[in-house]
Amino acid sequence: MLMEIYDVIIMGSGPAGLTAGIYTSRANLKTLMVAGSKWGGQLMLTTMVENFPGFPEGIQGPDLMAAMRKQAERFEVEIKDEDVTGVDFSSRPFQISTQDSVLSAQAVIVATGAEFKWLGLPNEQKLIGRGVSACATCDGAFFKDKKVVVVGGGDAAMEEALYLTKFVGEVTIVHRRAEFKASKIMQDKVFANAKIKVNWNSEVKDVLGESKVEGVVTTTGSIECDGLFVAIGHTPATKLFAEKIDLDPKFFAKRLGEKYPTMSNIEGVFVAGDVHDCRYRQAITAAGYGCEAALDAERWLSENT
Ligand code: NAP
Repeated sequence: MLMEIYDVIIMGSGPAGLTAGIYTSRANLKTLMVAGSKWGGQLMLTTMVENFPGFPEGIQGPDLMAAMRKQAERFEVEIKDEDVTGVDFSSRPFQISTQDSVLSAQAVIVATGAEFKWLGLPNEQKLIGRGVSACATCDGAFFKDKKVVVVGGGDAAMEEALYLTKFVGEVTIVHRRAEFKASKIMQDKVFANAKIKVNWNSEVKDVLGESKVEGVVTTTGSIECDGLFVAIGHTPATKLFAEKIDLDPKFFAKRLGEKYPTMSNIEGVFVAGDVHDCRYRQAITAAGYGCEAALDAERWLSENT
């Protein structure tokens, strides 16, 4: 049987990937999305999104992603909830492998997003799921009336700490500097919450406990706690693309095109969203980047196929 060749294969199903899919499919390009076995990206692990335009009362992250997916499906984007296991960009049509299939396309959009960063402490990995977490939305309910530590000083750390106060008795934010990086509105919410205290100029050096978290050791002393939530940012999901497309020193995919600014160093391979963006990393910017990549892919395909 002849292998079907798609016009565009999109890898990733966060706001960048789904927006790209809406645009390419509406442009009549036969579009396949390899969405990942856990589709939807980081917004699936978020609670209320208050800054995505069009939702004056806010919208839950998973609801926003479900709406985007529904919209992409309405325009007949074919979606496979599988993980990409390999890519071959050495000749066209490009080949993308998943556990179950080898897929082929004239153009691809890499929109694989980013993954949680960890502190890199030996006990941290051992105790993931036993008190160590990077997702308050997923795990917060397990810590009813307990004491937890949140590490980080960005918006994500503020959001995690605030969300956790719904369940826990006390949250201590451990931050390595004397001021937060987070937006003022998020900081204000944290400072106004009586359940949250902050340990400034402090770093977590070890996680205590054998079968579950019992405390953390910091550079300014030990804290007894039942949970450790790490919220120190993300790394781009580009492992599969090392040596396939150009990455920057922090492993973000590079946009290098001139005529088509969203193109990587490989003709016909476009990049969009948190996988290339280490600066803004918002749902709305990711959606915008997805739109850009789709428009570039459409124009490039019309000139190159
Ligand atoms: P971020 O803004 O990069 O903040 C990471 C924080 O973790 C920083 O405070 C950083 O410390 C700290 N950190 C990094 N590595 C560390 C380490 N090894 N040990 C200890 N601390 C470490 O990341 P983010 O909070 O995940 O946010 C990413 C983007 O998403 C931002 O643009 C943010 O605005 C957005 N976001 C928005 C919302 C919202 O609006 N509700 C929610 C979540 C995320 P330093 O401050 O010292 O660098």
